[in-house]
Amino acid sequence: MNLTVDKTLKWMTRVNEKIQANKAYLTSLDQAIGDGDHGINMSRGFQEVVKKLSSSHYETVSDCFKDVAMTLMSKVGGASGPIFGTAFLKMSMSVKGKESINQEEFTRAIDDAINGIIQRGKANEGDKTLLDVWMPILRVFQENDDINWNDADNTAKNAMEATKERLAKKGRAAYLKERSIGHVDPGSVSSYYLFQSLAEVMTKGDKNE
Ligand code: ADP
Ligand code: MG
Repeated sequence: MNLTVDKTLKWMTRVNEKIQANKAYLTSLDQAIGDGDHGINMSRGFQEVVKKLSSSHYETVSDCFKDVAMTLMSKVGGASGPIFGTAFLKMSMSVKGKESINQEEFTRAIDDAINGIIQRGKANEGDKTLLDVWMPILRVFQENDDINWNDADNTAKNAMEATKERLAKKGRAAYLKERSIGHVDPGSVSSYYLFQSLAEVMTKGDKNE
């Protein structure tokens, strides 16, 4: 794996495309077990992320991540803005000064992001939050020296779908208790788009990347 600035920009562009295309779906998921703003939050956030990235020049992946973080934190309300913002800020700090990132560095960055998400939201894996997708993804990176992007995509997808049968213990959905069961967690779906987009970007073009 070699995540360059160019690939990072393509990654964020791809996430934004998926979120815009699925804005109504994300909203409907959050209407079922939250307050119905997740589609709006993510759509506004990533639209601003792409705007910011395309108007700047970057020497390092860490600076890209930092601008993603700052944009999400300042433009997105709700729980998801600070949570995704914290994740990208921790990733930026983790790979500070690096022009590109290898798998070992990326794995550490995801691990740091998860610790930031936990510090911020106090959720555990299994609580029906976006951590239910981030944790299995971390394990894929930790357990495979040479990442298979198809497997990573499948892992994130299965993890996202598995949130449907869980009972929410954190976030707004937790107020619904048993009634939260039977609905997919919105933040896990947008996290799936994030990792699916990364897989797509990393498997396009140069086979060595
Ligand atoms: P809000 O819940 O404030 O309306 P959003 O609707 O944008 O914010 O985001 C909801 C998503 O945020 C949930 O689907 C869940 O994945 C994630 N989330 C909520 N609370 C937490 C938490 N404490 N830790 C981790 N993720 C959380
Ligand atoms: Mg919401």
